[in-house]
Amino acid sequence: MAQTPEERKAKARARSRAYQIANAEKIRLRKQAKRLANLEEARARDAAWRAAHPDIVRANNLKYRTLNRDKARAAARAWNEANSELVLQRAREWNAANPDRVTDIQRKARHKRRAMLLGNNSPGVTREEWAAIVDAYDGRCAYCPCPGVTVDHVIPIVRGGLDAPDNVVPACLSCNTSKKAKPLDEWLSSPAYARRLAKASG
Ligand SMILES: [Zn+2]
Repeated sequence: MAQTPEERKAKARARSRAYQIANAEKIRLRKQAKRLANLEEARARDAAWRAAHPDIVRANNLKYRTLNRDKARAAARAWNEANSELVLQRAREWNAANPDRVTDIQRKARHKRRAMLLGNNSPGVTREEWAAIVDAYDGRCAYCPCPGVTVDHVIPIVRGGLDAPDNVVPACLSCNTSKKAKPLDEWLSSPAYARRLAKASG
């Protein structure tokens, strides 16, 4: 029986698809090589397309971030760590340019923290308990050899840690600032901590 034009087209499509699936890596490498050979052009084309389709770009970005939240956060963290000087400088500039917003943000952060402490039934740490803990660490930072004076919540409050004696350790300001709300194991295995430790020990 003779094929109709539609059947022929459908078969051709199926063949093409099968070829693409069977040669996905080869096709990918070929596309990549072509792109690299005309990188400026490809970038300009991408930028033009993005400029012409801001809604799609926004939707895609949002979708990507939602689907890859952890990956995106890790990438942002890695970038921030690799560019810590720049990040710090930008933050300083922004703070200097927005004095009202800074206090506003700080006030909101304090409120949020207090609400969390009240909400998670933290027993709190008495002055005596804190003194005993500092003494147990010989007045040093729990994470590096520096003198430790600030209160660090091992499990950060924002991650559900309690303000309780078994969740607080003394930390130097540098470690405390570097650790922030990161999970302990994540921070301890981070390049930021390695640098911190090298600096404190050296
Ligand atoms: Zn320290």
